[in-house]
Amino acid sequence: MRKFIGSVLCAALAVFAVLGVSGCKKSGGDSLYVGTNAEFAPFEYLDNGTIVGFDIELINEIGRLIGKEIVIKNMAFDGLLPAMQAKKIDIIIAGMTADDERRKSVNFTDPYFTSKQAILIDSGTEDIKTFEDLPGRDVGVVLGYTGDMVVTDIPEVKVQRYNATSEAIMALNAKKVDAVVLDYEPAKNYAKYNENLKLIETDLAREEYSIAVPKDQGELLGQINKALETIKGNGTYDRLMSKYFNE
Ligand code: GLN
Repeated sequence: MRKFIGSVLCAALAVFAVLGVSGCKKSGGDSLYVGTNAEFAPFEYLDNGTIVGFDIELINEIGRLIGKEIVIKNMAFDGLLPAMQAKKIDIIIAGMTADDERRKSVNFTDPYFTSKQAILIDSGTEDIKTFEDLPGRDVGVVLGYTGDMVVTDIPEVKVQRYNATSEAIMALNAKKVDAVVLDYEPAKNYAKYNENLKLIETDLAREEYSIAVPKDQGELLGQINKALETIKGNGTYDRLMSKYFNE
């Protein structure tokens, strides 16, 4: 009897083992689940329902080089890190700044883009010209973005936090806030398509975008860094830069 139970258990374990490998684990196979937040043009945005942009082309090229099929998962920006911790996604590419706070819980690849914060104001506003003009004002940011961290550090600013960039821009258009602080490239993009908005370029808070990888995925991190190096060396990076950033 004991022998019989033993073999049943064994068979069950074998079935679980097979299911375990093919059924649950996402990484390790040929697909790489990549989390992003598609409202950060020109890095990732929706074009007729399809997620496109600089980051998307970059990660697809990385996938090609490391032999993985890229599966993009679109979610809220502040849900990206928790989703990766919960293993719902394998990596993140989302114009994400490699900062020390995030480095506590994830590893970042070598940087692929250098950016900075910018201020968006109504085109009629004359008295906001630098970050020093923000104290005492209502300033919109997106919750958890680096813009939020930068503005929160300036004393006496009335920080209004929104869940999405589009919401912060709507608040600015509705004059509920005096300014919005956002990464330079998407800010420039908003200014380009909204003639009532004006962009103030600043050199505050230089930051670098990187791909976030779980701490325990050292091998994958190495593969991505190697692919990034290839992309920077073989002309692909320059092609993407001029496609998305040349005026
Ligand atoms: N670079 C900013 C950050 O990491 C904003 C990123 C984004 O909105 N996708 O917080």
